[in-house]
Amino acid sequence: MKKKIIIAIDGHSSTGKSTLAKQIAKTLNYIYIDTGAMYRAVTYYALKNNLISANHFDKDKLIKDLDKIKIDFKFNPDKGFAEVYLNGKNIETDIRKMIVSNFVSDIAAVPEVREKLVAQQREIGQQKGVVMDGRDIGSVVFPDAELKIFMTAKPEVRAERRYKELKEKGQNVSKQDVLNNVIKRDKIDSERSTSPLIQTTDAIRIDNSHLSREEQFEMVLNLAKQKIQDHSEK
Ligand code: C5P
Repeated sequence: MKKKIIIAIDGHSSTGKSTLAKQIAKTLNYIYIDTGAMYRAVTYYALKNNLISANHFDKDKLIKDLDKIKIDFKFNPDKGFAEVYLNGKNIETDIRKMIVSNFVSDIAAVPEVREKLVAQQREIGQQKGVVMDGRDIGSVVFPDAELKIFMTAKPEVRAERRYKELKEKGQNVSKQDVLNNVIKRDKIDSERSTSPLIQTTDAIRIDNSHLSREEQFEMVLNLAKQKIQDHSEK
């Protein structure tokens, strides 16, 4: 009987973490959790309730409101992954918009927000058999994860991929805005005082600037299978 493990996939914005994590989870029959979607859901709430804009951020009110924010994932069989819900409403499409991307790193830097979401992530992962992607999964959420991957690529490559993705979804954005957003989020994520984005010493770094999705998938799947084997023999 193979034992289940936790696979933590962290890294810079728009490195294809979620695409990879989804594929790996599907192949191993594991649960996939997109923790970025959870930070985006809180950001969506803050925007809808006028708690954040370009020149104001009512952090205290957001912290007070945290108890009113309920985030769930529900599997959508047509899409093959779990979509995110805020207080019962499916917000999977809304949270991918640039307006949310523009504010999410400020929201994610609030320690109380992180505390709430990390607690929920740990609860979901306690049964193992989970692939979780984010910024602090291997460093904070599951420091004992059996497999840790750290993904990166050149900012220009990442922005180009993101731009294409947003265009395909019909969003009207400029390449420069997407690049600026990618660079800005990396900076805030890496410099914040609570759980900054770091590569832990036990994480395997993958720079996918010149890797195809298939090559990367094969590489990580082989690593995962090896870890599952090692873990099962313990
Ligand atoms: O993964 P995604 O790009 O959707 O995440 C959106 C933002 O949420 C990141 O730029 C980061 O600010 C924040 N985040 C985080 N910790 C995580 C996941 C996401 O701070 N575990």
